[in-house]
Amino acid sequence: MYADVIVDMAAGQLDKVFQYDVPETMAQSVSIGSQVIVPFGAGNRKVRGFVIGFSEKTDYDPMKIKPLESVVDGELTAENQMIRIAYKMKQVYGSTMIQALKTVIPVRRQVQAVIRRYYRPKASKAQAPAVLSSVLEDRRSRAKSRLMTWFLEDEGTPDGEFHWFSKETVLAASGVSQATLKAAVKEGLVEESSRQVYRRPLNNNPGFAGKVRLTDVQKKAADDIMEDSRQVHLLFGVTGSGKTEVYMELMARMIEQKRQVIVLIPEIALTLQTVSRFYGRFGDRVSVMNSKLSDGERYDQYLRAKRGDIDVVVGPRSALFMPFERLGMIIIDEEHDGAYKSEKSPKYHAREAAVWRARMCGAKVVLGSATPSVISYTKALSGEYGLHKLTERAKKDSALPNVFTADLREEFKQHNYSIFSRKLKQMMGERLKRHEQIMLFLNRRGFAGFVSCRSCGYVLKCKHCDVSLTAHAGGILKCHYCGFEMPVPKVCPQCGSKYIAGFGTGTQKVEQMVHEAFPQAKVLRMDKDAVTKKDSMETILSDFRAHKADILVGTQMIVKGHDFPKVTLVGILAADLSMYAGDYMACERTFGLLVQAAGRAGRDSLAGDVVIQTYQPDHYSVKAAAAQDYEAFYEQEIVYRQMMHYPPAAHIRVILGECADEAVLEACMKMLAQSAGEYIEKTQAQAEIVGPANAYVSKGKDAYRKVLYIKSSSLELLIRLKENAENCMQRESRFRSVYIQFDLDPMTMY
Ligand code: ADP
Ligand code: ZN
Ligand code: ZN
Repeated sequence: MYADVIVDMAAGQLDKVFQYDVPETMAQSVSIGSQVIVPFGAGNRKVRGFVIGFSEKTDYDPMKIKPLESVVDGELTAENQMIRIAYKMKQVYGSTMIQALKTVIPVRRQVQAVIRRYYRPKASKAQAPAVLSSVLEDRRSRAKSRLMTWFLEDEGTPDGEFHWFSKETVLAASGVSQATLKAAVKEGLVEESSRQVYRRPLNNNPGFAGKVRLTDVQKKAADDIMEDSRQVHLLFGVTGSGKTEVYMELMARMIEQKRQVIVLIPEIALTLQTVSRFYGRFGDRVSVMNSKLSDGERYDQYLRAKRGDIDVVVGPRSALFMPFERLGMIIIDEEHDGAYKSEKSPKYHAREAAVWRARMCGAKVVLGSATPSVISYTKALSGEYGLHKLTERAKKDSALPNVFTADLREEFKQHNYSIFSRKLKQMMGERLKRHEQIMLFLNRRGFAGFVSCRSCGYVLKCKHCDVSLTAHAGGILKCHYCGFEMPVPKVCPQCGSKYIAGFGTGTQKVEQMVHEAFPQAKVLRMDKDAVTKKDSMETILSDFRAHKADILVGTQMIVKGHDFPKVTLVGILAADLSMYAGDYMACERTFGLLVQAAGRAGRDSLAGDVVIQTYQPDHYSVKAAAAQDYEAFYEQEIVYRQMMHYPPAAHIRVILGECADEAVLEACMKMLAQSAGEYIEKTQAQAEIVGPANAYVSKGKDAYRKVLYIKSSSLELLIRLKENAENCMQRESRFRSVYIQFDLDPMTMY
């Protein structure tokens, strides 16, 4: 047996793999991820390496292959864990080992030796109110008052001084520019230190704890999670129920035990408002990872984590791979979110990878959501995950909103062809009069051009796959799972109406319609186009929070975790847009979006109303969302999943092929389907092959795209079928011009 070894990982040489012979005596003690000592180079220098795979054969002269020197034992280090995770990702989701390693280990970049700069207000704690009022008086600089307000909120040290905060923390948490900070130093408002004068030691920071006293339910949830021996816990709490406070309690307890915590938040929800809550409580022990960091900064953060300089990292999916050696907990907020699934190979889901990692180091995983994924909820019901519910909003005076459903078929019958139902329009008028705020939400993501009847709401679906058909040029409707096609019918098959058409509207159009209907209202828009500038998402959000506009129009970007106390009305313009996205997750996504959007209304003491506009008011996703009843949704959805063998009832292996030559691609994909079929037959396994069919985007820049699905309840089988496909690809020369990607349990349409 030969071991594939990467040598000196710190040098970032992930692509170079060396083979070593595994002596009989070591065969038992070496496994993937093991740290080994190997003779290296001409002088047989002894160096450290990691085993990333095994093989029975070798491309080299066996006589020249050197044996492993020794296996380093002891506990699994973070690096061992990462390599194992990479290997598992490659196996389960599909990718090369190198792609997988690059996912879990950052590229090494030279980090310039930086002097760490620390800042604090020049005043003492007692002088703070005076300083603050003089700064706020000076109206010329909003940024400066924002900075000082942030600084002066710090509760200070026991001896009445302010804490020192690193430059990174100050800039990220206060949201001001470097220039503002510099100016404040120059003016003598803030003092600077480039020594680590007061790096707050572990457990010595009173923080802001005690600002919020946990309710009994919150405390019970935290206690139960800590005491229950199960590894994974689902914290299922309605929007505003105080999940974040529970996370912080858990984090504090972990830190007390000298263990580290990773908090994952979808990138889009990683806003100043969220992040400052963590900073406020844990100060510099928290490090925030975001896409604005350069490779160098990211590597620096990696090294600090490795040295144990930080206890908590808050970040998107990739923060999961922070090399903490004392990892105690991984918290995944909004665990149902699609952003946790990687769009690059290996197309891992962070929730799964988190469980793998946690298992290796005895950590806990806490999944939080107001609308849990059907997958997680199923596991919680079965008892595999602990289930903890928060059924009420944490703030006493904020109740869940009233939800109204507006039937767009009815509006159509009453000759109201505008995008606002009469109910929504009337309520918007009322709010504007009362100077309250409104959010209008257009759930465009996953919009795939489904075709429906505007008169009765009937949606054309694939008779094999029970997903909606999508419209293509030339009036053709297609199923993107099995390839079924049919022309768009002239009249509705259900009611005979001729108003059968695709549904299309964008946020810009909505903005324009608002202007027409309410010329006096001030409107802000937030979507991908509006958020092109680096900070403009923060600007839009803070402007809206400061009530500089009455109405915020946006896509799902506006529903994630933002807290706007003055919003008392949320309008969901077309619930159907995401309901018929053409994949099995469409209803789950829709229900989640509707509930999250509704949850934006009435977060504070003002009562909130929600209007859901839809052609399908009787659809269970809409009805359950209107009743804010997750269980009702789940009960229906799980029946559909079981009936159609969609996750969690089965797993889905995706094989996506891309090639410039359509005929070659067709032949190759058919070959893969056939080979899978033979394997299934030979092993008498239970699996179903769907396709190959054209992908949703059937032609990319220079290549045709086709996709093959295999459904089976056996993950093991789907792993072997991937390996079978890889073998087939190696044997057949025609695959040389075909680019194949694998996926497992996709969350979007291919
Ligand atoms: P979630 O994460 O579940 O949406 P949050 O943790 O953001 O909920 O809490 C919602 C609001 O309620 C926040 O403004 C938070 O400060 C407040 N809150 C949470 N827990 C408490 C508590 N125990 N006492 C008072 N206010 C609380
Ligand atoms: Zn109809
Ligand atoms: Zn189909």
